[in-house]
Amino acid sequence: MAKIISFANQKGGVGKTTTCVNLAAYIAALGKRVLVVDFDPQGNASSALGLFDKKAKNSIYDVICDDSDTTSAVRAAEVNGLFFIPSSDDLAGAELELSQIVIGRERVLAEKLELLKDNFDYIFIDCPPSLGLLTVNALTASDGVIVPIQCEYFALEGLSQMMNTVRLVKKHLNPTLEVHGVVLTMYDSRAKLSRGVLEEIVKFFGDRVYDAKIPRNIRLAEAPSYGKPVLLYDKRCAGAMAYAALAKEFLNKEA
Ligand code: ATP
Ligand code: MG
Repeated sequence: MAKIISFANQKGGVGKTTTCVNLAAYIAALGKRVLVVDFDPQGNASSALGLFDKKAKNSIYDVICDDSDTTSAVRAAEVNGLFFIPSSDDLAGAELELSQIVIGRERVLAEKLELLKDNFDYIFIDCPPSLGLLTVNALTASDGVIVPIQCEYFALEGLSQMMNTVRLVKKHLNPTLEVHGVVLTMYDSRAKLSRGVLEEIVKFFGDRVYDAKIPRNIRLAEAPSYGKPVLLYDKRCAGAMAYAALAKEFLNKEA
């Protein structure tokens, strides 16, 4: 049975998609079957996995709003064992469409993913930068949430809002939801600021902060434009090695 993990932080540009896609790729490379669900209308995870078509058919939008078949929405990515369900432009309208469902609007994604759980070890959901109904659906479907945090001055601002949403989903919709871990992104070990942010975050999350920290690395930013996870783009760069280490740490924690 797949474990479902959401990558969420309502702050934009903190590394949710980069972490979701690259961690998924390395976990697949370590022999697991991993499905990435691109649950952001921006479709960045789909592009990072090689699908640049923003009007893709059989997208996650069709699955949750048009009742299209979940299994046939799954596509293979270039890495062995890695699969994805793409986003599409239409997903931007899904919040409104979901909000009109009278009963169970928060559980639509959970019910759709239930059908796939036997086929994968992990299902990773890349959330949009908001705490709306898409993110609530993702959290309701998940066993855990991974929160990527960018090491910058305002990193902790908004985090309490995010944690409050997690708490509310846990209380009302999904009692087993846990914060699986916190990943520090764009980390500079030499910068006082990064170290300061790290200290604050450890105070807040304790041992849920991963030891593996992701440095600022241009290759990580370049890889998506080639439609590749960094593992296939430049596996020797510092960013690739950091995600490889994170994948090992993630699986060790699971064992
Ligand atoms: P959004 O909230 O818009 O969905 P996000 O939280 O998913 O954003 P990403 O898209 O992963 O964030 O990253 C934001 C930008 O920063 C992207 O251009 C990405 O390529 C780049 N980036 C992410 N992580 C790193 C890193 N460690 N080093 C350098 N660039 C990075
Ligand atoms: Mg993103």
